[in-house]
Amino acid sequence: MSDLYFDLLQRSEQLCSNVDQKTKLANNIHNWEENHDKSLDQFSDVESAKEKTTAIIDKSLYNIDRIAFDFETGFKKNGGYVCFSMNNNDVCNTVLKIIKDKKAKNVVINSNNILDDIGIKASVGKKVDDVSELNIDNIAADTDYVKNTDQHPAFPAINCNSEDVIQQLSKNYGGDDSATIPLLISEIRADNDIKMKNADVFISGVNFLTADTGSVVVIDNEGAFQKAQLYAKTRIFIASINQIIENIADLKTLVPMYSSYAYGQKLPAYCNIISGSNGLTFDGEPSETYVIITSSKRISLLNDHNMRTALRCINCGACMNVCPVYRCGTGKLYSSAIPGPIGLILNPMTKSLDNYHFLPFLCTLCGKCSEACPVNIDFPSLIVQVRQTIVDKKYCSQNDEDFILGLQKHLSKRKKLDRKGIMTKDKKLKHLTGQLGDWLELPVFANKSFSEQYEILKEKERKEMEAQNKANNK
Ligand code: SF4
Ligand code: SF4
Repeated sequence: MSDLYFDLLQRSEQLCSNVDQKTKLANNIHNWEENHDKSLDQFSDVESAKEKTTAIIDKSLYNIDRIAFDFETGFKKNGGYVCFSMNNNDVCNTVLKIIKDKKAKNVVINSNNILDDIGIKASVGKKVDDVSELNIDNIAADTDYVKNTDQHPAFPAINCNSEDVIQQLSKNYGGDDSATIPLLISEIRADNDIKMKNADVFISGVNFLTADTGSVVVIDNEGAFQKAQLYAKTRIFIASINQIIENIADLKTLVPMYSSYAYGQKLPAYCNIISGSNGLTFDGEPSETYVIITSSKRISLLNDHNMRTALRCINCGACMNVCPVYRCGTGKLYSSAIPGPIGLILNPMTKSLDNYHFLPFLCTLCGKCSEACPVNIDFPSLIVQVRQTIVDKKYCSQNDEDFILGLQKHLSKRKKLDRKGIMTKDKKLKHLTGQLGDWLELPVFANKSFSEQYEILKEKERKEMEAQNKANNK
């Protein structure tokens, strides 16, 4: 069992019983649900739009070797540089090499949860004078403070209410009790403007890479990306291999779908498309643009017909919003920058089974995530498959296996339970709830089985009917 598992055991009870935290999360999700429902009006048939989105991504994944090469050719033709990395360490080393070559001292960053998962900010922070986050949502969520875990891809501050946001932003930007969110945001924007102008390097995550035009696509609601990429002398964009799509024309489908499922908006405020190097910065200085594409073991999932469907993910976060486990314990349950249902698959399968073998068990297999997902990922079947891998690789102890088999044997038939007496049944239930946490109440075991109760009910109804008939015939 990993350290993260024991850490989760310690934290989960406190997380799941934190009513204040759950209320904030539920309120934010409720807002998203209302907006999301309205934004779906733009599709005449939502299911067809989902099918179309899924087909676009599946086609791209199927042709990934070719389109990765096409993207590289197109982007280089327009003066950009493309590097391929095998894992997170590779990505960090490539970024650090560029920073060293440019003798960069000040770096600005537009993080997303893929960058957080790679650990870019921490890695760059050790080598330069200053690395500043531009994304106001990330600043509000204080993602550094929580060690880059718990990152909702669309709403990093999903666990916060407006007081938390004011408190957090005031901490960094010197507001007082009378500060308001719009006031603080305008201060942050002014501060970001200075940082952008002084930055030697700008690093950002992306939404898509389009192979036919060799372009980087970044969807943004704040506008910081657009400015930062114009000022920076060196721009570094980091993408995962499954973010490459074949045709730029497919953005007509993908952008509204992403916007709707991520933000509950019909369209985002900005959709930036960058093809190669822009040659000069805003200040007329020469600029360079790098794209780093990382496989991060995701490519290994392509060989599995079922598992490859997890790579369809466009990082919208909708599956997290509907998941009862996420909503109970928040993203902090998952000990990863990729939380929620998709994290149950990607963390163990592409990062480390040793560390994350317990994650796929944070799931009731209710299937709500599949209903919410715009790219039709069949989560229950994938989660069961990952669980099977975990059992096959002997991550469950013999004691766990014996315990579950014993329970199955005793609880599968009521007759067997009755033979042992009601006390034995209660003991077994107590043992189970003991594993789940003290704050769960032990349900009372019914004295009679469902069939017995049903027979009694039927008999009672029959007698009542007979009595009624007799009364009617008098
Ligand atoms: S798995 Fe689906 S719902 Fe979840 S983040 Fe990815 S695309 Fe969105
Ligand atoms: S199937 Fe599992 S991961 Fe998906 S919503 Fe239900 S509990 Fe969450």
